[in-house]
This record gives sequence, structure tokens and C-alpha cells, in this order.
Amino acid sequence: MGDYDRGFSMHTVSERFMEKRTDNISRIDRLRADRTLPREQLRLLLTTLSEEEAAYLYKNADEVRKEHYGEDVFLRGLIEFTNYCRNDCLYCGIRRSNKNADRYRLTTEEILDCCDKGYVLGFRTFVLQGGEDLFFTDEKICGLVSEIKKRHPDCAVTLSIGERPRESYEAFFNAGADRYLLRHETINPVHYRQLHPEELTIENRVRCLRDLREIGFQVGCGMMVGSPFQTVDYLMDDLYFMAEFRPHMIGIGPFIPHGDTPFHDRESGTLQDTLHLLSVIRLMNPRVLLPATTALGTIHPLGREMGIQAGANVVMPNLSPTGVRDKYMLYDGKICTGDEAAECRRCMELRMEKIGYHVVAARGDSKV
Ligand code: SAH
Repeated sequence: MGDYDRGFSMHTVSERFMEKRTDNISRIDRLRADRTLPREQLRLLLTTLSEEEAAYLYKNADEVRKEHYGEDVFLRGLIEFTNYCRNDCLYCGIRRSNKNADRYRLTTEEILDCCDKGYVLGFRTFVLQGGEDLFFTDEKICGLVSEIKKRHPDCAVTLSIGERPRESYEAFFNAGADRYLLRHETINPVHYRQLHPEELTIENRVRCLRDLREIGFQVGCGMMVGSPFQTVDYLMDDLYFMAEFRPHMIGIGPFIPHGDTPFHDRESGTLQDTLHLLSVIRLMNPRVLLPATTALGTIHPLGREMGIQAGANVVMPNLSPTGVRDKYMLYDGKICTGDEAAECRRCMELRMEKIGYHVVAARGDSKV
């Protein structure tokens, strides 16, 4: 091979390298402009991002979020009111077959007390989350919701209590509930089956989501990042499903194993994958309410800050009484289990100010 040939081949290699680089940059530009990408382009974006390209992706997502929500970060006060659950999701630490889970239920008074304290701290959304615990009948949930709305009429109430019949959702809505979080977990039926026991189906999950939206709730769906058996194809299916369903909120966070579940020896989802997906979700759903989740803060001390900088605009500090915090263990190592609500609130405010954002005392309704 002569010098000319060697020079020529080196030239093409570096040219190809450049081509790949500019391609990801133009993929990001195209995703921002069109809010979608053809499947093969999306696959390349998700699988070949360099660090510099990732920075460009985050910057674009952050700009889009600022166009709609500025530097505001909305607060949601999370009240984990029961860890009893009739379900047996393979990934979840409070699944019914975990005999090591120390089960608890908050009383009505305790729940209302969390809201009263949260209100003083500037929370204007309360999220009641729990396992699927039928001790809390529709009637009890409605009673709770209407009492919270009576005490704090300027606040939004979000429920996150899993699958119920349409009539139950209607009753919750009529009692004053504003929003409902129900992650779809994975839209692929094969993957859904790998993560859940047979009695749970993606069909019913989607039925619930559609019912909730028809009834008038602001609805949230979402999935874990890096859950066992997840593939890039499944993730892309999730992204396209969400773009089509147009939820008001999207919750994603890394999967983190729990020692007492069948997935105890699986790897966690990664910080990078989660940040990439947060940005892609922001570009595909410019106005969506997108939390930087506790799970993201658990896999990295600055995970939530990085999530906000990658396009998220919601944080969900814990308002649950400290006595039960470490019992609502969906996964190992969950952060903030020892802190009082006031500390969590202050800590979050400082964390956000440090990176140039401001937590606001507002309901933070969806602009979708
Ligand atoms: N029972 C309610 C609330 C579930 S907990 C419901 O069914 O909607 C809220 C979310 O935590 C779940 O939707 C799931 O995506 C997430 N989660 C559960 N186990 C987890 C784990 N091991 N790692 C990360 N996230 C988990």
C-alpha cells in the first residue's frame, strides 16, 4: 500500500467519524423541531451518543422546558400512606409476597396532618401514593380527598393507588381529585409479563389510563429505566406510546433492585440512560410535567439536579411521617428516609437555587 492509499483511508475514517458526530447533532435538532424521529434515527440517537452530544441534548431539552415553564420547579408533596399491596410486581419491594416488609397504614388524621404541615411549607399539590390496598375503599379515598380539598381548596390532589374500576376513578374525580399517576411500566406485552404476575396485564393498565383521561384527570404514565429484560426497542415503543397518548405527566426513574424481590441480583438502571431519556421525553413532549425522581436521586447524590438540567421540571419531596419513611421501600437505598418534611423542603430549595432554578409554591398544573 503506498502513502497515498494510507492517507486516503485515514481520511475516510475520520470523515466517517465526523459524519456520525454531526448526525447525532442533527438528530437532536430534528427531534426538537419535529418532536419525533423515525425509529432507526431514534435508535441511533439513543445508542451512539457521545458525552458532548449528550450535553447538547440536555441543553436543548432545558431550553424547551424553559420556553414553557421558565426556571420554575414545581413541588409535589408525596404522602406514602400505605405499603400494603395486593399485587406482586416482581421489581417492587412492597409486593405482597415480601414477608420481610413491615406493613403500615397511616390514619386519616396522620394523612391530613401531613397535608396541613405541607401547606405551611408551601406545597400546593399533595400526592397520595400507596400499594394497592383495598382497606382503603373507594369511600375512604373519597372521604380523604374531599377533606383535603375542603381544608386546602387552592391545592391539587394527586392519587397514585394503582388499578381500580372506572366507577372508582369517577368517584375519586367527583370527590375532587385532580390528577392520577399510573405508570404504564412497559407498553410491550412480553416485557410486561416479565415484570408482573399473570393477573396483571398491559391491556388493563392502558384501559385504566384511558378511563382516567376521559373522566377528566390530569394523567401521568411512565416507566423504569433499565428494568430487567428491557431493550432499546421496548424503550422506543414506550416513547412512541407516550407521545401518542399525550399524558399530562411522565414519571421515569432508574430501576433499582430490592433485596427481597426476585430481581434482587439485577443491575440498576444508569444515570446516563435516565438523563438521556428525560431529555428525549422533553423534546417529544414539550409541555409535559416531568419529575426528577427520588430513584434518580438515589443512584447519584446530584441525580435530581442533573435531571432538572436535562429537562425535568418537578420534584417530589417526601411528606410522609418519618416513622414510616423507611417502610415504604420500593427499592434498596432510598434517600431522605430520616428527614422531616421541613428539612426536605429546604434541602430541595437549596439544591435547586444552586443550579439556578426556583421551587415555587404553585399547583403547577399541566399546560398540555
Ligand atoms: N401502587 C401504585 C404505586 C406504585 S409505586 C401503582 O401501581 O401505581 C410507584 C412506582 O415506583 C411504580 O410505578 C414503579 O415504576 C416504581 N418502582 C417500583 N419498584 C421499583 C424499583 N425496584 N426501582 C425503581 N422504581 C420502582
